[in-house]
Amino acid sequence: MSGAAAAAQAQRGAGHGGRPMQVAARGPASRRAAVFIDKDGTLIDDVPYNADPARVRFTPHAMVALQRLAAHGFALFIVTNQPGLATGRIRHTEFDALRSHIERRLFDEGGIGLDGWFVCPHTPELTPRCGCRKPAPGLLQRAAEEHGIDLAHSWMVGDILDDIEAGRRAGCRTVLLEVGNETLWQLAPLREPHHRCRHLLAAADTIVAQQHEALRA
Ligand SMILES: [Mg+2]
Ligand SMILES: [Zn+2]
Repeated sequence: MSGAAAAAQAQRGAGHGGRPMQVAARGPASRRAAVFIDKDGTLIDDVPYNADPARVRFTPHAMVALQRLAAHGFALFIVTNQPGLATGRIRHTEFDALRSHIERRLFDEGGIGLDGWFVCPHTPELTPRCGCRKPAPGLLQRAAEEHGIDLAHSWMVGDILDDIEAGRRAGCRTVLLEVGNETLWQLAPLREPHHRCRHLLAAADTIVAQQHEALRA
């Protein structure tokens, strides 16, 4: 993405800033908190443009991490940029099959039911202002609207700073998995993770501990 496109995207993201606050103001009691989880490099090992279910590997402790979050009442969403859908490197039918495979394994092996997937199918080259490609917060905001999610009590977990920025722009707290996938480290206040963890289970433990602390306060 060019600097100008990034700036335009940042500007547009900032314009959405009021919506999460309105959601929170309706009262967290009636709205669920969620954990938004990036797919590639966070839920499963990052194999660029992979559409082959046989090559899906969950990251360390991913299954028990999701079980723990679900047991504590969090809704679970996968939020993922899939530019290969726009360029044709992955067909929609292939991606749907991959998604079904992941859902089936989570359910069969972990008893985990995801609450939904929110996917950006655009590339910055063809659709520079889609509003849903992370670091924009569109995927999280759409999930919140469609599922009645309280963004102020929700979390975004990802392996790069674009995930962190998307989470912060949506009004969530954030956890960066420090697994070596971020390479540019373009830090800015909106890209500063609230917590840094080594794997998804450590992230889940952090989120649950923070939730307990918030309930005590
Ligand atoms: Mg990722
Ligand atoms: Zn998009």
